[in-house]
Amino acid sequence: MTLDTDFHSHVSYTSAMQMAQSARTKGLRVLGLSEHITQMSESRPLLEHLPLEGPIMTFPAYVEAVLAAAQAIPFDVRLGMEVEFIPEKNERIQALLQPYNWDFLIGSVHEVDGLSIEVKQDLTREECEDFWLRYFQALRQAVNSGYFSLVSHPVRMRASNPHLPATFDHELEYLAAEATRNNVALEINGSDLLSYPDVVRRLARACAAQHTPISVGSDAHYPAEVAQAHQQSAALLHEVGIQSIRIWKQGVAEEYSF
Ligand SMILES: [Zn+2]
Ligand SMILES: [Zn+2]
Repeated sequence: MTLDTDFHSHVSYTSAMQMAQSARTKGLRVLGLSEHITQMSESRPLLEHLPLEGPIMTFPAYVEAVLAAAQAIPFDVRLGMEVEFIPEKNERIQALLQPYNWDFLIGSVHEVDGLSIEVKQDLTREECEDFWLRYFQALRQAVNSGYFSLVSHPVRMRASNPHLPATFDHELEYLAAEATRNNVALEINGSDLLSYPDVVRRLARACAAQHTPISVGSDAHYPAEVAQAHQQSAALLHEVGIQSIRIWKQGVAEEYSF
């Protein structure tokens, strides 16, 4: 078996149809589409401080476009969403998701205490290390929240903050253990792996040590990026002894060997 699923991809710059067609052309078996909740007009008032990626859409229009692409191609497309985890807003965010029949929901921490984790902050080295610790705390809260099938890109802060705390590997293992305990997957993210493979390797090792369920997603925003880094992801997972990938249908987890 090969790594032939991708459970993190976006449609806002293109369309569900174009992304699913790319997945089929690249030989994938299943594509999980997971548009940002920040792109939905119904949730925009709660999340208007976050950047937009292309035109906004309604929840019904997004759901309809995903189902229509699956039927028209035809292709096994799973309906998902990348959902912000913001403690004081989670209840209102989750209420907006309730009416729809999601295959999977990705929990994403993109900000901690109102500060973006992807934009370089004006912090001292010590504050940078402390920012990592608060990021890991938020990721553990997301894993424990009960809202999500998986928690995405757990080392994404590396994009803006190279000052890893001395306890970095311990923090990863703590997060991986909490994910295992809650039966929530952690993600090996293709975009992260192409940008900072060293910290993604440390994440994969922590997941292997804690027997954490693994999701693999490219974080593609364009058709050419679907399954980006899948070869590297498969090689890394095999290197650390992980043989199994988790995917979801109607919220129910499935595993396959690769
Ligand atoms: Zn994200
Ligand atoms: Zn994403």
